Amino acid sequence: MSFSNAYLSQVYEQVCRRNAGEPEFLQAVQEVLESLEPVVAADPAIEKNGVIERMVEPERMIVFRVSWVDDAGKVQVNRGFRVQFNSAIGPYKGGLRLHPSVNASVIKFLGFEQVFKNSLTGLPMGGGKGGSDFDPKGKSDMEIMRFCQSFMTELCKHIGPNTDVPAGDIGVGAREIGYLFGQYKRLQNEFTGVLTGKGLTYGGSLARTEATGYGLCYFTREMLADLKNESFAGKKVVISGSGNVAIYAAEKATELGGKVIAMSDSAGYVLDESGIDLALMKQVKEVERARITEYAARREGAVYTAGSKNIWNTPCDIALPCATQNELDEEGAKALIQNGVMAVAEGANMPSTPAAIAALQKAGVLFAPAKAANAGGVAVSGLEMSQNSMRYSWTFEEVDSKLEGIMKGIYQSASSAAAQYGHAGNLVMGANIAGFNKVCTAMIAQGV
Ligand code: GLU
Repeated sequence: MSFSNAYLSQVYEQVCRRNAGEPEFLQAVQEVLESLEPVVAADPAIEKNGVIERMVEPERMIVFRVSWVDDAGKVQVNRGFRVQFNSAIGPYKGGLRLHPSVNASVIKFLGFEQVFKNSLTGLPMGGGKGGSDFDPKGKSDMEIMRFCQSFMTELCKHIGPNTDVPAGDIGVGAREIGYLFGQYKRLQNEFTGVLTGKGLTYGGSLARTEATGYGLCYFTREMLADLKNESFAGKKVVISGSGNVAIYAAEKATELGGKVIAMSDSAGYVLDESGIDLALMKQVKEVERARITEYAARREGAVYTAGSKNIWNTPCDIALPCATQNELDEEGAKALIQNGVMAVAEGANMPSTPAAIAALQKAGVLFAPAKAANAGGVAVSGLEMSQNSMRYSWTFEEVDSKLEGIMKGIYQSASSAAAQYGHAGNLVMGANIAGFNKVCTAMIAQGV
């Protein structure tokens, strides 16, 4: 990889040396640095102040042992992480992911993305991320509780409502946040907004559950209207995943007039040409925590196909990858292009490979990058923090309309930053540049 800018080349070489064997982190860094070429070229203060080399190095990375006792009475050990990536514009903020694929590379890529995403929301939040290689699949409720308690027993030493505020991500929903919050409160003897995504009876915000999926559709709506004079109305929508982001993206896309015809889990996907029955999907995924095959079994006309990546062969107008990183590769992108896709908007974090993004952009498909398009979740987390500080709560409509305003604002910032540097319509560049600018200004102002 080489950059036309010597400073960026040199920083990127150093990042590769320091983070060898961390492909996800390097992928995320490379994409941002590529976008920043014109910005760095135009402003010598960035190099002089070492802004880029500081930004690619986390302020702090905490790695810890998580020991817990399973239902058979046996001790299990997992590895826990929290990366406190950048605090230039506010306390570290970002979710916790529980999935066997979690390692230092995954946590660092997520933390790095979070810095720019949080900046784009316009709210005062720095970037962080955490998690563990613990696999919640097949664990009992009590095993989940014991794991969460052990995880928080160590994590509580490093977080606080004005220091670092974790939330959910893959494998961490309302149940896990409840157990984590309970343990934090027991250990610190204080009731604060130290976690977001809390239950509504103890400080959670209305519309936080819906926020990422709804926000994704608000952003996509702005993009469709601005760049193609189009809307969701009458469009066929394919959504990968069936977790929190996917379900509420499906709900909002449907409300905006789209027809969601396919959704997936890690093993395969369902095609339901008459439109996904969301009540059934919620029952299967949220209540029963079952596989998506259950949906197909109970829904007349729904067809299940093994292999989650096959979902991209489904002809559609709008594709929303909402499952996990690198789930949409070049082959998937080409299949979408061949079938005439109009827009791809990322609900998951870094779900498209660089080759997939390049193919989509080259073919003129509208592309909304995750750090802009899925920022609605963390934005409402920011609103949850505000409500907790005020010891007050807003109505669903109040939060939802603030979310809508924030997503419109993010679209505007990304779109005008892209245009300012001569890349109108390139929202990957626009989001990276707009997210970077605010953090960069704050870092320079605060000195080394
Ligand atoms: N995990 C979500 C994300 O990737 C939300 C983080 C938060 O609410 O702090 O942005």
